[in-house]
Amino acid sequence: MLEVNDLHVTVEGTEILKGLSLTINEGEVHALMGPNGAGKSTLSAVIAGKDGYEVTQGSITFKGQDVLEMEIEERAQAGLLLGFQYPVEIPGVKNIYLLKSALNAQRAARGESELPAPEFMKLVKEKLGYMKMDASFLQRAVNEGFSGGEKKRNEILQMLVLQPKLAMLDEIDSGLDIDAMKVVADGVNSLRAEDRAILLVTHYQRLLDYIVPDKVHVLIDGRIVKSGDAALAKELEANGYEGIEESAA
Ligand code: ADP
Ligand code: MG
Ligand code: MG
Repeated sequence: MLEVNDLHVTVEGTEILKGLSLTINEGEVHALMGPNGAGKSTLSAVIAGKDGYEVTQGSITFKGQDVLEMEIEERAQAGLLLGFQYPVEIPGVKNIYLLKSALNAQRAARGESELPAPEFMKLVKEKLGYMKMDASFLQRAVNEGFSGGEKKRNEILQMLVLQPKLAMLDEIDSGLDIDAMKVVADGVNSLRAEDRAILLVTHYQRLLDYIVPDKVHVLIDGRIVKSGDAALAKELEANGYEGIEESAA
């Protein structure tokens, strides 16, 4: 589904990704781990098409399409979605309008008509229920005054409504208490599907007790230095990144 090959990315003149390769197949959940500043967020941002990143070498393909040739909206409509593509507070724009316009843009790109309002509401309410969110969330401005936990739930709610093909979630566990993390993890688990893949960026192993990944990758200094299964995350929890850095060097 997603093939990243020898990706080199520069931000403001500094090379951040230094030859990163990664393959994600349909149905798989991949966890990307690594120390602060390794380039984890850079990778998901480049795949999603955010501004400010210069790809100097390498390629990204998604279902055979050259992702680097696609505009950010085309990527979202193709089903490549980074959580919190709208991370900032958007004063005055109600959550429900954002969800509706994002969903209808996606449908329009597929040649489908707008989802009628009653069906849209039914869909959203079902997903709200999964995330244990109150309907009043929908009427609040996007992320305005949301607590950390509410933002994370809202991020997963967007994913549940938009049903991306590749869902990229960056640090969805940061700042969550254990109960909120379980709700978020349940939401992510309910996204699992044979025709969908999930890329989870996370610092901590704890989240991976609830969302068990098929593959774990360790990103250090712009490259994936080690890949394994869920056991690798436990090993990192026990030993940290140092041993890995040494063996990679
Ligand atoms: P991670 O998510 O693994 O903690 P990031 O991808 O956020 O790491 O950052 C990797 C490196 O790139 C860091 O050294 C960071 O300071 C730098 N970086 C990321 N984004 C920018 C930016 N917009 N401008 C300048 N430097 C950046
Ligand atoms: Mg190279
Ligand atoms: Mg990051």
